[in-house]
Amino acid sequence: MKYLVTFFMAFMGSFFFLQAQQAAPADGGFVLVIHGGAGTILKSQMTPEKEARYHEALNLALQKGYDTLKKGGSALDAVQIAVMVLEDSPLFNAGKGAVFTNKGVNELDAAIMNGENLAAGAVAGVTTVKNPITAARAVMEKSEHVMMAGKGADEFAKAAGCTIVNPRYFYTKERWEGLQRVLEQEKKDSALKKSKATGPVPFKMHDNKFGTVGAVALDKNGNMAAATSTGGMTNKRYGRIGDAPVIGAGTYASNSSCAVSCTGWGEYYIRLVMAKSVADLVELKGISLEDAGNEMIMKRLPALGGDGGMIAVDRKGNITMPFNTEGMYRGYIRENGKKEVMIYKAE
Ligand code: ASP
Repeated sequence: MKYLVTFFMAFMGSFFFLQAQQAAPADGGFVLVIHGGAGTILKSQMTPEKEARYHEALNLALQKGYDTLKKGGSALDAVQIAVMVLEDSPLFNAGKGAVFTNKGVNELDAAIMNGENLAAGAVAGVTTVKNPITAARAVMEKSEHVMMAGKGADEFAKAAGCTIVNPRYFYTKERWEGLQRVLEQEKKDSALKKSKATGPVPFKMHDNKFGTVGAVALDKNGNMAAATSTGGMTNKRYGRIGDAPVIGAGTYASNSSCAVSCTGWGEYYIRLVMAKSVADLVELKGISLEDAGNEMIMKRLPALGGDGGMIAVDRKGNITMPFNTEGMYRGYIRENGKKEVMIYKAE
């Protein structure tokens, strides 16, 4: 009997250890969590130099957000600053590294939300704002609206004092070649399907590589915030807007539950009202943040045919970073200043 009990304890111990790898328990104090997108991110396809560049960018974003939180800054400021660092890096599909639409242009989406008062701001399809997250913040703070799209959003961002760039700023060779690859594939696929093409115009948008960026934080005052920024999906058409700027889908924050930022195949996230569903599970069902994240990302998302991941923090400072893809650029930093940055599944 004694052995049985020992065995049972050891079994439970290893179970909890495994769980703890995914969700980092709270140790009090403030916390910042970031992501740089989920997708087919394989170590076999990464060079050590490239991996080092990703680590550097993620560490810098964590450090800048941390510096803000450390000196008593708000979760809102911290998530914005962290996202701006990632927007300025060509490595991620947001700001400088945004993917191309079918027409070979860059249309950017972003959203920010303050968990303290449920204030939110979002822009969709902007083409001239260097840091779309600043435009989202401006919509939240300098207008009566929550979401602006297209030319109007660009115009507003300019009037609100956001840095405006020539759309050429967003060109990167890697993203351009990414579009060409998807177009090639699309050509092959549509030649195959030609005889059966009766429904909506067929096009390929999913290139298995995401790269959206996002941040969630809990500050010294117990306030939470979330921010997400993206170029959307390669080869998107007809003014397609993803989940990132849709409050409740890709981005959500409420002090009564949690703050969430998502990355993945946006259409599925919109249909699942992903971020708000996690918040509701936490608030209304009283389940843990980790269980809520797993329920949505590991069960309901793949059941519908979608893929991707999310980051989230709750009011106690628990965090979770589930994803159902090969990898997700991600990391977090707590009040003690220790950073964790990860890319692949088992790390
Ligand atoms: N969720 C984004 C979108 O659908 C894409 C991504 O996360 O990379 O626009």
